[in-house]
Amino acid sequence: MFSIDANELMGLTIRDLMIPGDKVAHVQIGNNLEHALLVLTKTGYTAIPVLDPTFKLHGLIGMNLIMDNIFGLERIEFEKLENMKVEEVMNTEIPRLFLNDSLEKGLDLVVNNPFICVQNEEKIFEGIFTRRAILKQLKKHIHLLNNNQHNK
Ligand code: AMP
Repeated sequence: MFSIDANELMGLTIRDLMIPGDKVAHVQIGNNLEHALLVLTKTGYTAIPVLDPTFKLHGLIGMNLIMDNIFGLERIEFEKLENMKVEEVMNTEIPRLFLNDSLEKGLDLVVNNPFICVQNEEKIFEGIFTRRAILKQLKKHIHLLNNNQHNK
Protein backbone atom coordinates (compact mmCIF):
# COMPACT_ATOMS: atom_id res chain seq x y z
CA MET A 1 0.00 0.00 0.00
CA PHE A 2 1.34 3.50 -0.85
CA SER A 3 1.53 6.09 1.83
CA ILE A 4 1.87 9.60 0.49
CA ASP A 5 1.11 12.97 1.92
CA ALA A 6 1.63 16.63 1.21
CA ASN A 7 4.83 16.61 3.31
CA GLU A 8 6.39 14.09 0.96
CA LEU A 9 5.54 16.26 -2.04
CA MET A 10 6.69 19.49 -0.41
CA GLY A 11 9.88 17.75 0.82
CA LEU A 12 11.10 17.48 -2.77
CA THR A 13 13.85 19.88 -3.78
CA ILE A 14 14.57 21.56 -7.10
CA ARG A 15 17.35 19.00 -7.63
CA ASP A 16 14.73 16.20 -7.62
CA LEU A 17 12.57 17.79 -10.29
CA MET A 18 14.79 19.80 -12.64
CA ILE A 19 15.77 18.94 -16.21
CA PRO A 20 19.57 18.49 -16.04
CA GLY A 21 21.76 20.96 -17.93
CA ASP A 22 23.00 18.42 -20.49
CA LYS A 23 19.39 18.03 -21.73
CA VAL A 24 18.72 21.76 -21.98
CA ALA A 25 19.13 23.60 -25.30
CA HIS A 26 21.24 26.76 -24.86
CA VAL A 27 23.30 29.35 -26.72
CA GLN A 28 26.73 30.69 -25.84
CA ILE A 29 28.00 34.21 -25.26
CA GLY A 30 29.44 35.30 -28.62
CA ASN A 31 26.77 33.55 -30.70
CA ASN A 32 24.89 35.90 -33.01
CA LEU A 33 21.11 36.40 -33.08
CA GLU A 34 20.82 34.32 -36.24
CA HIS A 35 22.17 31.29 -34.39
CA ALA A 36 19.85 31.88 -31.42
CA LEU A 37 16.86 32.20 -33.75
CA LEU A 38 17.82 28.95 -35.44
CA VAL A 39 18.05 27.07 -32.10
CA LEU A 40 14.76 28.55 -30.86
CA THR A 41 12.96 27.73 -34.10
CA LYS A 42 14.30 24.18 -34.40
CA THR A 43 13.62 23.28 -30.74
CA GLY A 44 10.28 25.08 -30.57
CA TYR A 45 11.18 26.68 -27.21
CA THR A 46 10.19 30.26 -26.50
CA ALA A 47 13.35 31.09 -24.54
CA ILE A 48 16.65 29.38 -23.69
CA PRO A 49 19.61 30.10 -21.37
CA VAL A 50 22.74 31.99 -22.44
CA LEU A 51 25.91 30.39 -21.02
CA ASP A 52 29.63 31.05 -21.32
CA PRO A 53 32.23 28.36 -22.13
CA THR A 54 32.56 27.54 -18.41
CA PHE A 55 28.76 26.95 -18.29
CA LYS A 56 28.19 30.07 -16.18
CA LEU A 57 24.63 31.38 -16.54
CA HIS A 58 24.41 34.93 -17.98
CA GLY A 59 20.76 35.34 -18.96
CA LEU A 60 17.92 34.22 -21.20
CA ILE A 61 17.23 34.88 -24.85
CA GLY A 62 13.82 34.44 -26.42
CA MET A 63 12.06 34.87 -29.70
CA ASN A 64 10.31 38.05 -28.49
CA LEU A 65 13.60 39.74 -27.53
CA ILE A 66 15.14 38.95 -30.90
CA MET A 67 12.12 40.15 -32.86
CA ASP A 68 11.84 43.29 -30.77
CA ASN A 69 15.47 44.14 -31.59
CA ILE A 70 15.29 43.68 -35.33
CA PHE A 71 12.12 45.70 -35.85
CA GLY A 72 13.35 49.14 -37.02
CA LEU A 73 11.07 52.16 -37.49
CA GLU A 74 10.67 51.61 -41.22
CA ARG A 75 11.62 48.01 -41.87
CA ILE A 76 12.78 44.74 -40.36
CA GLU A 77 16.56 45.04 -40.02
CA PHE A 78 17.48 41.47 -40.94
CA GLU A 79 21.21 42.31 -41.02
CA LYS A 80 21.11 42.66 -37.22
CA LEU A 81 20.57 38.91 -36.97
CA GLU A 82 24.10 38.38 -38.22
CA ASN A 83 25.72 41.43 -36.64
CA MET A 84 24.32 41.41 -33.11
CA LYS A 85 25.45 39.05 -30.34
CA VAL A 86 23.10 37.34 -27.90
CA GLU A 87 24.67 39.19 -24.96
CA GLU A 88 23.51 42.53 -26.44
CA VAL A 89 19.91 41.43 -26.35
CA MET A 90 19.51 38.81 -23.58
CA ASN A 91 17.60 39.41 -20.37
CA THR A 92 19.98 39.31 -17.40
CA GLU A 93 17.35 40.17 -14.77
CA ILE A 94 16.11 36.63 -14.35
CA PRO A 95 14.93 34.69 -11.31
CA ARG A 96 17.27 31.86 -10.36
CA LEU A 97 16.93 28.75 -8.22
CA PHE A 98 19.55 26.73 -6.34
CA LEU A 99 19.67 22.93 -6.29
CA ASN A 100 18.59 22.67 -2.65
CA ASP A 101 15.76 25.19 -2.89
CA SER A 102 12.32 23.85 -1.97
CA LEU A 103 9.52 22.95 -4.33
CA GLU A 104 7.52 25.72 -2.66
CA LYS A 105 10.06 28.36 -3.72
CA GLY A 106 10.03 26.93 -7.25
CA LEU A 107 6.22 27.02 -7.30
CA ASP A 108 6.20 30.68 -6.33
CA LEU A 109 8.53 31.52 -9.22
CA VAL A 110 6.82 29.48 -11.97
CA VAL A 111 3.53 31.27 -11.38
CA ASN A 112 4.91 34.11 -13.51
CA ASN A 113 7.64 32.32 -15.50
CA PRO A 114 7.29 29.21 -17.70
CA PHE A 115 10.65 27.95 -16.45
CA ILE A 116 13.41 28.95 -14.04
CA CYS A 117 17.16 28.41 -14.43
CA VAL A 118 18.91 26.45 -11.70
CA GLN A 119 22.50 27.30 -10.76
CA ASN A 120 25.05 26.33 -8.11
CA GLU A 121 26.84 28.65 -5.68
CA GLU A 122 29.39 29.57 -8.40
CA LYS A 123 26.58 30.59 -10.79
CA ILE A 124 27.31 27.53 -12.92
CA PHE A 125 24.21 26.40 -14.80
CA GLU A 126 22.74 23.12 -13.51
CA GLY A 127 19.44 22.86 -15.35
CA ILE A 128 15.91 24.23 -15.55
CA PHE A 129 12.79 23.86 -13.46
CA THR A 130 9.62 23.88 -15.58
CA ARG A 131 5.87 24.03 -14.98
CA ARG A 132 5.62 20.72 -16.80
CA ALA A 133 7.87 19.03 -14.19
CA ILE A 134 5.60 20.21 -11.37
CA LEU A 135 2.43 19.17 -13.16
CA LYS A 136 3.88 15.71 -13.86
CA GLN A 137 4.77 15.28 -10.18
CA LEU A 138 1.36 16.50 -9.05
CA LYS A 139 -0.35 14.15 -11.48
CA LYS A 140 1.67 11.22 -10.09
CA HIS A 141 0.70 12.07 -6.52
CA ILE A 142 -2.98 12.54 -7.33
CA HIS A 143 -3.00 9.21 -9.16
CA LEU A 144 -1.43 7.44 -6.14
CA LEU A 145 -3.85 9.19 -3.80
CA ASN A 146 -6.82 8.01 -5.89
CA ASN A 147 -5.50 4.43 -5.96
CA ASN A 148 -4.99 4.57 -2.20
CA GLN A 149 -8.58 5.62 -1.61
CA HIS A 150 -10.01 2.98 -3.96
CA ASN A 151 -8.03 0.27 -2.15
CA LYS A 152 -9.29 1.27 1.33
P1 AMP B 1 7.49 23.24 -20.69
O1 AMP B 1 7.07 23.46 -19.27
O2 AMP B 1 8.11 21.90 -20.93
O3 AMP B 1 6.41 23.60 -21.67
O4 AMP B 1 8.69 24.28 -20.99
C1 AMP B 1 8.49 25.66 -20.87
C2 AMP B 1 9.67 26.39 -21.45
O5 AMP B 1 10.85 25.93 -20.80
C3 AMP B 1 9.93 26.14 -22.94
O6 AMP B 1 9.21 26.97 -23.79
C4 AMP B 1 11.40 26.48 -23.02
O7 AMP B 1 11.58 27.89 -23.08
C5 AMP B 1 11.93 25.94 -21.71
N1 AMP B 1 12.41 24.56 -21.88
C6 AMP B 1 11.77 23.42 -21.55
N2 AMP B 1 12.54 22.32 -21.82
C7 AMP B 1 13.68 22.80 -22.35
C8 AMP B 1 14.89 22.21 -22.86
N3 AMP B 1 15.08 20.87 -22.85
N4 AMP B 1 15.86 23.01 -23.33
C9 AMP B 1 15.70 24.37 -23.33
N5 AMP B 1 14.60 25.00 -22.86
C10 AMP B 1 13.60 24.24 -22.39
